[in-house]
Amino acid sequence: MTYEYQLRLLPEQAANEQSILQCLATEKGLDLPAVNAVRVLKRSIDARQRTIYVNLHVRAYVNEVPPAQEYTPVSYREVDGRRQAVVVGAGPGGLFAALRLIEQGIKPVVLERGKDVHERKKDLARIPREQAVDPESNYCFGEGGAGAYSDGKLYTRSKKRGDTERILRIFCQHGASTAILADAHPHIGTDKLPRVIENMRRTILQCGGEVHFQTRVDALIVRDGRVIGVQTADGQEFHGPVILATGHSARDVYRWLHAQRIAIEAKGIAVGVRLEHPQELIDQIQYHRREGRGEYLPAAEYSFVTQAKGRGVYSFCMCPGGFIVPAASEPEQVVVNGMSPSNRGSRWANSGMVVETRPEDITGYEQYGALALLHFQEDLERQAWLQGGRSQTAPAQRMADFANKRLGASLPDSSYTPGLVASPLHFWLPGFISERLRQGFLHFGKASHGFLTNQAAVIGVETRTSSPVRILRDRDTLQHVEIQGLFPCGEGAGYAGGIVSAGIDGERCADSLSQYLNASHG
Ligand SMILES: Cc1cc2nc3c(=O)[nH]c(=O)nc-3n(C[C@H](O)[C@H](O)[C@H](O)COP(=O)(O)OP(=O)(O)OC[C@H]3O[C@@H](n4cnc5c(N)ncnc54)[C@H](O)[C@@H]3O)c2cc1C
Repeated sequence: MTYEYQLRLLPEQAANEQSILQCLATEKGLDLPAVNAVRVLKRSIDARQRTIYVNLHVRAYVNEVPPAQEYTPVSYREVDGRRQAVVVGAGPGGLFAALRLIEQGIKPVVLERGKDVHERKKDLARIPREQAVDPESNYCFGEGGAGAYSDGKLYTRSKKRGDTERILRIFCQHGASTAILADAHPHIGTDKLPRVIENMRRTILQCGGEVHFQTRVDALIVRDGRVIGVQTADGQEFHGPVILATGHSARDVYRWLHAQRIAIEAKGIAVGVRLEHPQELIDQIQYHRREGRGEYLPAAEYSFVTQAKGRGVYSFCMCPGGFIVPAASEPEQVVVNGMSPSNRGSRWANSGMVVETRPEDITGYEQYGALALLHFQEDLERQAWLQGGRSQTAPAQRMADFANKRLGASLPDSSYTPGLVASPLHFWLPGFISERLRQGFLHFGKASHGFLTNQAAVIGVETRTSSPVRILRDRDTLQHVEIQGLFPCGEGAGYAGGIVSAGIDGERCADSLSQYLNASHG
């Protein structure tokens, strides 16, 4: 028999299997010799009160042997020689689309402008050394997409989008720890993600799919109102219906879509800065303990949200024990983002601190139409590059100084390896952003004593929180509203905001493409 229980334990008890068993015996009356195994199904930390508890949902196998695997793996089919579809982009959207196409018996041909995940890593290592970004291989472009050298947080605020658990199980099937199935805030870590991504590629290839790196798509091939393939930068053609999953940083794609008169529209974004505190301070604040997190608690997280002058101001993509990285995708831009390794062991905690920005908030960009917010993003990133000293060195200011509109010459230590330069961000960021950020910081500092501090730095600029453009698609068929055979997908198309939601959208697009192929072939 199996029995499920909710347990509320101290962190040191929750970390120890014997303590969990002991608790099941004393609190739930289980006969320990009959228990063959206990599996943790869900795990979350309750740090709201002074005494911190770990809530566990466990399953005990009593006089019963547990199954060898904690989930049922997906079975993938041989697709060599079958009908094919083109998947542009090997980020989470494209990879999950390709895997799902295989399940549907369709051969995916994946075209990726960047390099494979290991070659790409060498280009990332060059950014702080050479203070320059390779426009085809960087934190946004290359196998695994923006999700590869990321934090690998796998939770989504939206439960509406689809089957989150299924995406997590497919990650496990490709080498992620099964702990992600239990944790309330699952996280893979940037050190583990590349191997998982490589295994996903291996599945695609072993089943007869194709993956082409350093193959940038520069145009769609359209015949009689229907997309029948793509053309690459070096003039090759690949044929089939197209899943376009090129992410939010492929600005050239938006530009050629616009030039090809394919309907797109401007979409609201959120922009601001990365904020970096010492992790020890965040642990003390969040766990209410001067001595910090101790041996049994993970690096503490936070999440803040407020309204300032009618717009949301909020923390975004918080990375406990992480690093701030240079996430620009073209020369003459400075863009910051965050990532963390699986052990979340660095000395720093960072998060995006961003202000909701709607098309009507920006003036002077009207002539760009659907590309207005894209131009606004570009201008901010170039401004950060100029303020940072025309390299990947990023402009920064101490947090309390920013909130009090003061420029101090010194900066705290930072995880950002290209380096920081002191700069009055409160002065040169657009007023509607800096003023709302200021109000947000003051509010968060009141809500959480010690959070608003000069031990923290604000670092500019965080602009790539989501896509500034939406590629219009039909709600039911997921095809472009005007052109058949084109499936705009993932974050770049405006239908996802993170690894899991991009993966879910990739699967949905693959299912719709399968229906389209079935209908076109009678
Ligand atoms: C540093 C960093 C940390 C992040 N941390 C997290 C996190 O912890 N959790 C989370 O949920 N999200 C995180 N994100 C966001 C997340 O990575 C994205 O939401 C997600 O990757 C979007 O998936 P996607 O497949 O839609 O697009 P992308 O991942 O952007 O993938 C698009 C792919 O298309 C390729 N491409 C672009 N143009 C072309 C072209 N013309 N031809 C061929 N290929 C092309 C690109 O090279 C890229 O590989 C992070 C992002 C960054 C940059």
